[in-house]
Amino acid sequence: MTEKKIPYKIYIEEHEMPKEWYNVRADMKNKPAPLLNPATHKPMTAEELGEVFCDELVKQEMDNDNRYIPIPKKIRDFYLMYRPAPLVRAYCLEEKLQTPAKIYYKFEGNNTSGSHKLNSAIAQAFYAKEQGLKGVTTETGAGQWGTALAMACAYLEMDCKVYMVKCSYEQKPFRREVMRTYGADVTPSPSMTTEVGKQILAEHPGTTGSLGCAISEAVEVSSKDPGYRYVLGSVLNQVMLHQSVIGMETKIAMDKYGIKPDIIIGCAGGGSNLGGLIAPFMGEMLRGEEEYKFIAVEPASCPTLTRGKFAYDYCDTGKVCPLAKMYTLGSGFIPSASHSGGLRYHGMSPALSQLYHDGYMEARAVEQTEVFKAATEFAKVEGILPAPESSHAIKVAIDEAMKCKETGEEKTILFGLTGTGYFDMVAYGKFNDGEMQDYIPTDDELQIGFNGLPDMSDIDE
Ligand SMILES: *Cc1c(COP(=O)(O)O)cnc(C)c1O
Repeated sequence: MTEKKIPYKIYIEEHEMPKEWYNVRADMKNKPAPLLNPATHKPMTAEELGEVFCDELVKQEMDNDNRYIPIPKKIRDFYLMYRPAPLVRAYCLEEKLQTPAKIYYKFEGNNTSGSHKLNSAIAQAFYAKEQGLKGVTTETGAGQWGTALAMACAYLEMDCKVYMVKCSYEQKPFRREVMRTYGADVTPSPSMTTEVGKQILAEHPGTTGSLGCAISEAVEVSSKDPGYRYVLGSVLNQVMLHQSVIGMETKIAMDKYGIKPDIIIGCAGGGSNLGGLIAPFMGEMLRGEEEYKFIAVEPASCPTLTRGKFAYDYCDTGKVCPLAKMYTLGSGFIPSASHSGGLRYHGMSPALSQLYHDGYMEARAVEQTEVFKAATEFAKVEGILPAPESSHAIKVAIDEAMKCKETGEEKTILFGLTGTGYFDMVAYGKFNDGEMQDYIPTDDELQIGFNGLPDMSDIDE
């Protein structure tokens, strides 16, 4: 048998790009639990969700049955501006590590926002536009999601209001300016522009904010203006659905060359890139067609899957959003101030949480100095300066490749390289100066977050 020489980069042709998203929920035996109304603890109806999200996205959020959802032409056209994303064979990294493993990564950083988040931003903005809405509101932490949404809204000529976590707003002025250049209105959170912001500021004066808090503000603003809806960059089923384009493209590229991954690795913040990358492969596993090992990688300082609880929880600090059943550290959890590697959200995608709970996926927590060490090693040999978030996946991919070196196994490892780190140079600077510290919360510290979980004794979980 002659093996095809695998190129350094595999680009599929434009006409080969996926025309449908894959909905992994259709193949799950245990479906993710429904979102609940925080006041009544009853499943959110489509009507109730329609007050927060636009109608088509409500449908996608609740759809546990349709395996494939067509990608509208206008979204596919937008994808063409920066997709297909390359599937890269990390020959240089393999050489450096002297490993028999074959390492591949799917690179999602080839757009101005610098991450995979644009895949869902354009979809969410598109459906809002279709519904005749004027604009959308959202939160952003590190800034990638806000930037992606600003780009999508500029393309569709819609308003975009972003609540940016205050410490990030101050530390990342360039992110903020990219958003404003694309026409977004950016407010540091918590702010005095919302009731919930005022309340949080009164209780915690001087707080530098959190994602959960920025979500509450963005939701409040959208709920007060019928021309706006709230959109979220991760966690939700709809976001994971849109991100399945990553996995679909990867699978098409791998199938062309007869490549089958043994291990698939992704970093996990809210779970959207990992869920999207693994989607079609997970589908095969759920249908009993193939076996894969999936690994979610999270920061040891925000250990949602490895140390969190699988329970209904608030998605935001202000407790205005629906309750989701997911792995969570509690909506009051805020990672240590020394944490600079991203992936700070207290919860995790309900669908991924269910898959993890049912044993289809593993999770690992890694410390940030190791992550930046892996990032630097990767940057030197592969040329791309990775986002700290993505570098969590790099770290575990290297670990797995080094295990292959010990055992002599030629495993095929695939990981998601979700973005570039050009706006994270303050964090890289800390690492370069040897000032980066690791922080692992104690059980007692985590317990404080768990104490804030809602009492669900009225329902049969
Ligand atoms: C937002 C982000 C993540 C984490 O989000 P997920 O929803 O878990 O994918 C990872 N990498 C980059 C570059 C990001 O911007």
